Amino acid sequence: MIGVIVADETAAREVPRALSDIRDLALGELEQFVVEAGERAFRARQIMAWLWRRGAESFAAMRDLPAPLRERLAARFTIGSGAPAHVARSTDGTRKLLIRLGDAEEIESVIIPTDGRTTLCVSSQAGCAMACEFCATARMGLHRNLAPGEILGQIIAARRELFAGETLTNYVFMGMGEPLANYERLKRALATMIAPWGMGVSPRRITVSTVGLVPAMERLLAEFAVNLAVSLHATTDEVRDRIAPINRRYPLRALIDACAGLPIARRRRITFEYVMLEDVNDSSEDARRLARMLAPLRAKVNLIFFNPFPGAAFTPSPRARVEAFQAILHRGNLTATLRESRGRDIAAACGQLYAERNPAAAAPPG
Ligand code: SF4
Repeated sequence: MIGVIVADETAAREVPRALSDIRDLALGELEQFVVEAGERAFRARQIMAWLWRRGAESFAAMRDLPAPLRERLAARFTIGSGAPAHVARSTDGTRKLLIRLGDAEEIESVIIPTDGRTTLCVSSQAGCAMACEFCATARMGLHRNLAPGEILGQIIAARRELFAGETLTNYVFMGMGEPLANYERLKRALATMIAPWGMGVSPRRITVSTVGLVPAMERLLAEFAVNLAVSLHATTDEVRDRIAPINRRYPLRALIDACAGLPIARRRRITFEYVMLEDVNDSSEDARRLARMLAPLRAKVNLIFFNPFPGAAFTPSPRARVEAFQAILHRGNLTATLRESRGRDIAAACGQLYAERNPAAAAPPG
């Protein structure tokens, strides 16, 4: 990132360069810039505080910085816009932000208030390449990875949409995209979220969800003490190959064995997400297989009511069947919760608002 900063200021004046988003920088990189600008390194922490604690939208707003430093910053960097292009507000308190990025890509973030918590669902990519059959985002394909500043900018944008007295308490990487397919940028964003000089969020309040990229999953848990959620959604390779094609590369046995070997597996529960699709993955036999499969792990299962979208190939399992499925898991000594669909009136499931606003780009194949 700091590679855009050249030591030769004469050359810098002669060759106009695109401004970089300062939100992509780590502390050390910003310190390097500040020192090269003739200031003391501690100024970098002041700038980070303006960005991540106070949500400053301009360098001019950073009033305790010397004016020449503010000018140097403005000549070299932008502060990427976090203003949502559209906010949909549900009657249940859920708010969905459609954020337009600098190149006009649009991504979604969702504020979800539940039981004394306010959780932000964060996107990691514009679109997704994983092709899960039950997911509206999959229809887009992958447009591009998000930069660290674009990932973090969703948090700043969401803070501006909070009600009086409300604060974000939890962060889940379950929005658009597969976070572990954008690992290096996710890593930078997580580092800024957690660092005392950044947002100071406890890693225990962060959950990264993956559809099962095994090597990156192992790397993530070796580098960060965040929570892991695995999108499982099936109990046989035959079904999972179809509805979550990444299974062809990392089949169920390999995925579950990898989860069992994770360093956090002994200390904390891993959450397994399971979207309930009628007559696809919701039989009593599926429930018994799931209980057996997860028995060796400290696991928790989230049973998710499928939120249908136009052209979806599935229908939601009836509530009675979901509850019967849950009861079988409980008898198998598994903790299983039902995740009610939030914000149905605002198309709050991943990718749905984008699809509503960009029907051509999110049309079903064929
Ligand atoms: S469920 Fe997640 S990993 Fe699968 S296509 Fe949708 S966004 Fe990508």
